[in-house]
Amino acid sequence: MKQTLLPTSTAGSLPKPSWLAEPETLWSAWKLQDEELKSGKQDALRLALQEQQHCGIDIVSDGEQSRQHFVTTFIEHLNGVDFIHRKTVRIRDRYDASVPTVVGPVSRQKPVFVDDAKFLRKQTKQPIKWALPGPMTMIDTLYDDYYKSREQLAWEFAIILNQEAKELEAAGVNIIQFDEPAFNVFFDEVNDWGIKCLERAIEGLKCETAVHICYGYGIKANTEWKKTLGSEWRQYEAIFPKLQQSNIDIISLECHNSRVPIELLGLLRGKKVMVGAIDVATDTIETPEEVAATLREALQYVDADKLYPCTNCGMAPLSRKVATGKLNALAAGAAIVRSELQGKN
Ligand SMILES: [Zn+2]
Repeated sequence: MKQTLLPTSTAGSLPKPSWLAEPETLWSAWKLQDEELKSGKQDALRLALQEQQHCGIDIVSDGEQSRQHFVTTFIEHLNGVDFIHRKTVRIRDRYDASVPTVVGPVSRQKPVFVDDAKFLRKQTKQPIKWALPGPMTMIDTLYDDYYKSREQLAWEFAIILNQEAKELEAAGVNIIQFDEPAFNVFFDEVNDWGIKCLERAIEGLKCETAVHICYGYGIKANTEWKKTLGSEWRQYEAIFPKLQQSNIDIISLECHNSRVPIELLGLLRGKKVMVGAIDVATDTIETPEEVAATLREALQYVDADKLYPCTNCGMAPLSRKVATGKLNALAAGAAIVRSELQGKN
């Protein structure tokens, strides 16, 4: 991977074009079908890539153009999960949702995202990051009527994710990221077995690995929940010490406009950190100087060669115009701090 100082990337999703899916919503239904849908997703992926390139993003992704939801689309491809008989469960202790039921041993029928990753790899020589759901977040999005053990089901998912990750690596993906918003909620389980499951998911990989731990998309359930967390968000404090000891290379976090005390980043010393310098819960576009200010703060606790400017979370629910503005601000803000750091040498 080429070594740019402060390489920029996004946490994952970008808005979809309005001809592909209903804009500015999560879970939006596809507007195309069959072969048209297949080529429509590829066209959207090309556009998402071009958008990132025009804005000057260094580590690019598919913008999650081919998936409806960051967890469910993966689970839909697995055996052992019944999508017809649904149950209502509480997601991340925050909101109720109707979810599929685990009814038998879970296994992967066939690769889920590998063809999409190969397609993206053909379009660019830039480093590619690919997002997968994390095992703990997957189990939190299901009703388990078979294993009846959160830990065991998470372990089974970790084995499946490892199969997928190895094929993504072979397809030329440079960084495989696991999305674990559940890490911000179930601290005891994270420390007991959550990180262990994540390490099972990355077993044997030679590419870089990341875990994205956020306070969620900028949707109402999450912004309401954030209001209950008090003036200082110290959730990260409970899990960073163990993550710092883990085999995961990169930790992706929410920082800008967040009540996370920035000094908590010091608990990750030695790890690479994707610092969220773009707020995804507002349409207000950051100025490059605001982005630079967040990065400078993070630099007090993260070595410059380990700091990766990023967004707080995915941008799927934003308008394309706002998302593009935020990508431009991210690249411009990183450029300011990059030239400051290079000026010092
Ligand atoms: Zn996120």
